[in-house]
Amino acid sequence: MKKCPKCGKEVMDNINVCTACGAKITESKVKVEKKEAAPAYGVITGVLAIAGIYLIANVWSLLGALVYFVGFGMALSEIKRDKDFSDKNFGDFAKKSFKKQNILKKGIPAIVVVIMPLVVAYGIYGWIILDSVRTAQHITDLIM
Ligand SMILES: [Zn+2]
Repeated sequence: MKKCPKCGKEVMDNINVCTACGAKITESKVKVEKKEAAPAYGVITGVLAIAGIYLIANVWSLLGALVYFVGFGMALSEIKRDKDFSDKNFGDFAKKSFKKQNILKKGIPAIVVVIMPLVVAYGIYGWIILDSVRTAQHITDLIM
C-alpha cells in the first residue's frame, strides 16, 4: 500500500490515481528513499578503524588488519549506497560528507576508506617489523 500525497488515503500499489480524491500519485512521491544507515553505523566504522590501527601498533598486526578491514568493509558499503558517490564526482561526495549533519554518517566512513592504503602499508610494516620485535620480546621474557 502507498499513501495519496494529497488526501493521505491508502491506495493499492498498482494504482496511480487516488480512488478518494482523484489526485495523481506519481512514483517519485511514494518511492521509498534508499535506506541509509544511522550515524551510529559511521561511528562504529571509525571505532573499528582506530581499534585496528591500535592493535597493529601495540598487539598483533594481523589481528589489527582484520579488525580494520571489518570497519573498512562496513564503511565502503555505506559509501557505495550514496548516490553522489562515483569516481567522477568524488569531490561532491566528499564535500557533502563533511557537512555538519553528515560527518558521523558519511564523513567517518569516507576517512576510513581513504586512509586504507596507509593502514595497509602500516600493517605490512607492523607484520614485518613490529610483530618480529614483539615475538623476540616474548621469547626473551620467557627465557629471562
Ligand atoms: Zn487522495
